[in-house]
Amino acid sequence: MTSRNQQLFEKSQQLIPGGVNSPVRAFRSVGGTPIFFKKGLGSKLWDADGKEYIDYINSWGPMILGHAHPEVVAAVQQAAANSLSFGAPTGLELEMAELINQLVPSMEQVRLVSSGTEATMSAIRVARGFTKRNKIIKFEGCYHGHADALLVKAGSGLLTFGEPSSAGVPPEVAAHTLTLNYNNSQMLKDTFASMGEEIACVILEPVVGNMNLIVPHREFLTTLRELCSQHGTVLIFDEVMTGFRVALGGAQALYGIRPDMTTLGKVIGGGLPVGAFGGRKDIMSVLAPLGPVYQAGTLSGNPVAVTAGLTTLKLIQAPGFYEALTAKTAQLMDGMKQAAHKAGVTFSAQSVGGMFGLYFSASNPTSYADMMQADKNAFNHFFHSMLNSGIYLGPSAFEAGFVSSAHTDADVAQTIQAAEQAFASL
Ligand SMILES: *Cc1c(COP(=O)(O)O)cnc(C)c1O
Repeated sequence: MTSRNQQLFEKSQQLIPGGVNSPVRAFRSVGGTPIFFKKGLGSKLWDADGKEYIDYINSWGPMILGHAHPEVVAAVQQAAANSLSFGAPTGLELEMAELINQLVPSMEQVRLVSSGTEATMSAIRVARGFTKRNKIIKFEGCYHGHADALLVKAGSGLLTFGEPSSAGVPPEVAAHTLTLNYNNSQMLKDTFASMGEEIACVILEPVVGNMNLIVPHREFLTTLRELCSQHGTVLIFDEVMTGFRVALGGAQALYGIRPDMTTLGKVIGGGLPVGAFGGRKDIMSVLAPLGPVYQAGTLSGNPVAVTAGLTTLKLIQAPGFYEALTAKTAQLMDGMKQAAHKAGVTFSAQSVGGMFGLYFSASNPTSYADMMQADKNAFNHFFHSMLNSGIYLGPSAFEAGFVSSAHTDADVAQTIQAAEQAFASL
């Protein structure tokens, strides 16, 4: 008998490219049939066949309070009853801007958008408009959404500009993007020495969550800050994933670095589509209607989405929220490492706040090249064993994992027990 999941996937493939609306969902990296969900509550999910899972994707981060949090759902219902959209200003947007500014003080001014992709794309346009420069720097393995200028990989030489990493991106667009190695300060210094006055901005994930989890060297971040200040280059922290996830004030609070601009997404919408970009007032002032840089959105600041985000941001300010989330995530990692050790499997793990990385390698990777050394086959085997046991991890060896405040000690214990079995089967 074919499962409802399989039926849904087969039919979806007829009408939706690859059967999914975002590629990683298709399970191409791990193989097998993607899970179609119909319900989530707290730390749990139920698929189309009624099977229960403990969720460690949490919609790739946004569901930091767990699924269907009663206060968030009630606030959204109330907001919806007052109209789904105005396309005109509301007091809610002001409330959101005030709260962002209070929690992330480097964001002196902020504009709301509807996705992380829009936030980074717009931040880069602003940085270029402000500096009147075209070139940008990003780092290998960081993901900043799917705007053309960011779907770029390194060119053939160390300091040559990039090539498109996706078909459909004109080489002329990619040619302005330079891709350097994460955590490599020397490469950064060399680049600024040779072309610092041409670089509009540097964009990075201050803790990387899109090539599994990679932690920054402090000295890499301070070098970056110094070089950008020296050369009039706009430093953009892409905190779409790390914002309100690694700490209440994001990675910039955790590491004590003040970027010129910040992009937010994921947690800021609490599960509905909200993104934001903001930063220094002098930089943000180049935006229309004040200045010459155009940016707009019909549904930007949507009242229902902003309400979901605001309610989420209010709840995560509860005393001890991040201490508990951080401790629970660390406890899960310790259990995983012990389970692997018992089974004699080469494995490493770490976490920052409510974000974690599992690696089938002897130590925690610090760059994209490092990460590529991990045993992908072991991960894929482990992933399917965990899925069988009702533990839903990201379906790729190169994704980070997420814990919510709804995850209980019992969830953690059940996950570690499943991991013991999974490691033993490798
Ligand atoms: C998810 C993500 C994005 C893209 O956000 P979308 O809402 O998927 O467009 C950008 N940057 C980072 C760091 C992300 O993790």
